[in-house]
Amino acid sequence: MKASTLSLVVLFATLQGTVSNAGQDFLVKLKPGTLNSFRFMKTFSTGDQKVETLTDEWVHVKSSAASNVRFNNGLTLKQTLQSNEMVEYVQPNYKIKLLENYKVNNPYQRSLIAKALESSPSTDAQTDNPPIPNAPTNEKVGIDSDLNKQWGMNDIGGKEAWKIHKGNRSMIVAVLDTGTDYTHPDLVANLWRNPGETGVDTNGKDKSSNGVDDDNNGYADDIIGWDMARNDNKPYDVAVEQLKLIFGGGNPGHGTHCAGNVAARGNNSIGISGVAPNVQIMTLRFMDEKGSGTTDGAIKAIKYAVDNGAKVLSNSWGSEGEDPAEDASNQALKDIIQYAQDHGALFIAAAGNGHQGVGYDNDTDGKPGYPASYNHDIIVSVAALDSSNKFGSFSNWGVRSVDLGAPGVKIYSTVVGGGYSDKVVDLPMLGIEVFWDGTSMATPHVAGAAALYWSAYPEKTWQEVKAALLNNTVAVPELQGKLVTGGKLNVLKMLEAK
Ligand code: CA
Repeated sequence: MKASTLSLVVLFATLQGTVSNAGQDFLVKLKPGTLNSFRFMKTFSTGDQKVETLTDEWVHVKSSAASNVRFNNGLTLKQTLQSNEMVEYVQPNYKIKLLENYKVNNPYQRSLIAKALESSPSTDAQTDNPPIPNAPTNEKVGIDSDLNKQWGMNDIGGKEAWKIHKGNRSMIVAVLDTGTDYTHPDLVANLWRNPGETGVDTNGKDKSSNGVDDDNNGYADDIIGWDMARNDNKPYDVAVEQLKLIFGGGNPGHGTHCAGNVAARGNNSIGISGVAPNVQIMTLRFMDEKGSGTTDGAIKAIKYAVDNGAKVLSNSWGSEGEDPAEDASNQALKDIIQYAQDHGALFIAAAGNGHQGVGYDNDTDGKPGYPASYNHDIIVSVAALDSSNKFGSFSNWGVRSVDLGAPGVKIYSTVVGGGYSDKVVDLPMLGIEVFWDGTSMATPHVAGAAALYWSAYPEKTWQEVKAALLNNTVAVPELQGKLVTGGKLNVLKMLEAK
């Protein structure tokens, strides 16, 4: 203990040299049982380091100092961390990003977009996220008006499956993404409501807004989830306006679209239905309006989901960090997925879209994409199919690494602002039309199917739910030799097979 104390004083010794804006961002794995000592000692900090606890084993260390800045022990921050006897492993806080990028690269089109942007008034006025509405107390009942626009829902046997089971609220699916439009009329009824932050506290104050972490889960007033990117309780899906999106990239409302296919409210007379029409959606936002995040946010989101009762995690995102040539590994991310596995949750993951920098129409057996390609048993990797049983031209595949196909081309779902669309961008004046395509769109169908099945058969283990997903696909000749199952998702077959 004494030696540790000494090493910590060194760790947080005074910085030498100039501080730049470059900054350093590490995830640090501690040896078992050292977390409290490590945290206690951080109070001796004399530098600008911020230390945040992620799990019992991992902490996040951030500094605004440039990486070549040395402490008065002659070592850099990374070296100082590595030499601390409580520290097992130091890794970069690797980046996380959306799998789709809608930026237009054609120079002529870009010049047109630039002109259009100049003449269009800015829509960046919104700075505060809207308040979280209460769950509706009475709703209309009736067939969802846009059900016929959801080709995918038909394709996987959704309508027939709902005659057997529609899901119940004890089943929670966490959507780990860019947030959701939690004011959306087709989502609000199915939002997860944290039972530990509802009702009144001992002072008679509303627990949902008393600023207190009433359920002692580490987050105050976390009513429907959490925003890990902004660190607040309003995980709103801040979307980039479509002209700006195609000019500079960013988030078009990805999380809202994904959440709708998992569990938009069914039989409420409006819009669409998710695959699991009556389960709860837990919103965990860890990617921002630029569509980017970091591993610490993914760790917090996965841990939150598991610790707060989510059984299915829907993951339409990609992570960096694996490079055998450089002996690099995103061990922190692998560890937290293992934590999810140890707690019996399923991790549904987008197989990835090849043209996003790792080759077109990629075989991930040879060129893995993460987190989908990690070999944790709870991971179900999902490819994207169109309405003619063909892979989306962008979809990754792999006979050993990608489990099944699901609808992921021209997908209709909820969008930010309370509406619905199968188009991300629709600017006929500029000749630009972009559909909601992606393994990102396929993944929520599988997450919803897992949730619906598990809701119908709550006694099942995660192994059995995964087996139900994989053993009840519909065989498609073109998918043979390309996917583990050689087939596509079918939720009706799953429910019928029991
Ligand atoms: Ca709380």
